[in-house]
Order: sequence, then C-alpha cells, then structure tokens
Amino acid sequence: MAVTDADLVHLRRCVALAREALDDGDEPFGSVLVDAAGTVLMEDRNRVKDGDQTRHPELEIARWAAAHLPPEERGGCTVYTSGEHCPMCAAAHGWAGLGRIVYVASSGQLVAWRRAWGLPPGPVAPLPVKSVVPGAVVDGPAEALVDAICVLHREHADRSR
Ligand SMILES: [Zn+2]
Repeated sequence: MAVTDADLVHLRRCVALAREALDDGDEPFGSVLVDAAGTVLMEDRNRVKDGDQTRHPELEIARWAAAHLPPEERGGCTVYTSGEHCPMCAAAHGWAGLGRIVYVASSGQLVAWRRAWGLPPGPVAPLPVKSVVPGAVVDGPAEALVDAICVLHREHADRSR
C-alpha cells in the first residue's frame, strides 16, 4: 500500500507535533493513532527533555491502546508517525497488536542525517520496524514531507552541539 492523500493529512499533523516538541525543548517526533473509521483517537509527541529517554510518542500510543482499546479493534488502527518507530516502540506496537504504521522518514534516513551532521549514533540499533515485528504493515517514507521533517531534525542537531 502506498502513502495516500488521506495518510498525508495525518502525517502533516505528526510534523506539526514534532515542531511543537522541538519548540518545547524535546526531540522533533510526533505521532497520531487513527481507528479503522479514520477517527483520531490519540496523539502525542516526544517528551524526553526531563531525562526519561523512553518518552517516545509511539510507546505512549501502544500503551494507551492496550489500556483503552479491546484487542480486536487494535489491528484496525493505523499509527502515523514523523519518524519510523525505534526498536523499543516497534516492539510495543507489536505486543499491543496495533495495525498499519505510516511514517514520514525512515530510521535509515534519520541515521544518515545524523551521521552527515557529525552527531554520534544513538545507544539503540536503528533496526527497521519489520526487523522487530516481521508481520507489521509499514508504509513510508512519505516523500512529500521528508524535507519538512529533515529541517526540524537539522534544527535540533544544531541546538544540541
Ligand atoms: Zn521509539
């Protein structure tokens, strides 16, 4: 399945949430949970600035879904996100039984940008979602928004040195 115009509406919201996170001193990542009918159920953004590096929006979404949605509804939900799930969040997504993932930029793209900007690699291997959750349905990158999210990561990189 390709990234559709309907997907882009939710992905644009992810980029806006990433902007909000960056403006608040966090890392530029945002995510949205949408049910099978297209209704936005929950959204969140990165919140690591106070020292808990696990405060990723995709992990919050997986835990929210586990707490609020019956298992049979989770598989019909789509998680939109500005950056491909890290292995921690991918595992939580898999354990929660959530459905399709659509991202703006891949982990590979993020890693390449960070390297080009002279930043050290993160402590967790940047495995693609499908290496962590082999059965996951994953779409991306969303070419139309890659530049917009790259700009935010560049701003964050410039701020962190
Ligand atoms: Zn994560």
